[in-house]
Amino acid sequence: MKKTIAGASIILMGCLIFGACGKNGSEQSVGDREVINQVSLLQGLTLGDYNGSITAKQLKEKGDIGIGTFDALNGELIMLDGAVYRAASDGSVEEVPDDETIPFSNVTFFDDDETFDIADIKNVDDLKAALNKKVDDLGSNQFYFVKVEGNFSKMNVRSEYAQEEPYKPLATVLETDQTFFDYENISGTIVGLYCPDYMNDLNAVGWHFHFISDDKEKGGHVLDLATDTAKVKMDMTSSFAMILPDNEMFSNFDLTVDQSYDIKRVETGED
Ligand SMILES: [Zn+2]
Repeated sequence: MKKTIAGASIILMGCLIFGACGKNGSEQSVGDREVINQVSLLQGLTLGDYNGSITAKQLKEKGDIGIGTFDALNGELIMLDGAVYRAASDGSVEEVPDDETIPFSNVTFFDDDETFDIADIKNVDDLKAALNKKVDDLGSNQFYFVKVEGNFSKMNVRSEYAQEEPYKPLATVLETDQTFFDYENISGTIVGLYCPDYMNDLNAVGWHFHFISDDKEKGGHVLDLATDTAKVKMDMTSSFAMILPDNEMFSNFDLTVDQSYDIKRVETGED
């Protein structure tokens, strides 16, 4: 359901963080649409829990836009307009079958709350700055999903090879098993998630971008980009719910260890 930002904040002020507003088992309500659903913790993924805990079919019941990865870390997940795509280690994109499983993801139902144009984006930091201007206006303690649609003069993405058990930590995997793809003049959509600062122990704070081309043939985790102009559609979401894996590996992790350094490396590909 589309509504104004102001309306959304008021309606959702009563929602508790970490509790979904939707009614159990009911069909989709306004509350269900206004929830960021997160599967697992990024910190679980970082430690090496690549065991899929939810199917693509179940994920699609939680949202129609999202980002994440697949069982065994087999590529980057992009959900767009209700379809779940894998950007594989060879850079190719496929829509995954409903029984494919997912260890980590964030999804929501996208509402086009705000639409605006951005221009003269020379790198990923320019994109973050342009989006943050709007986030600062609307409130930096909310969650935001964006679609950034345009033709990108530069689009640098990465994916990774599927892993075999026993799983190594993500930062170790990415040292050897990342694959990089640099495109020029490619049209497509960036799916981006903004997490507020207080999410530090549960996810990466700030922006995280995945890309998929209009022809659904190329995509990955965005490392850098450039575009003269692009259209941004932004969805503010004021509620957050978590779906934790019920597996032995996840249940027994020591999550007291500070992983902020590893998470930065994982997100940006830099030290
Ligand atoms: Zn990513």
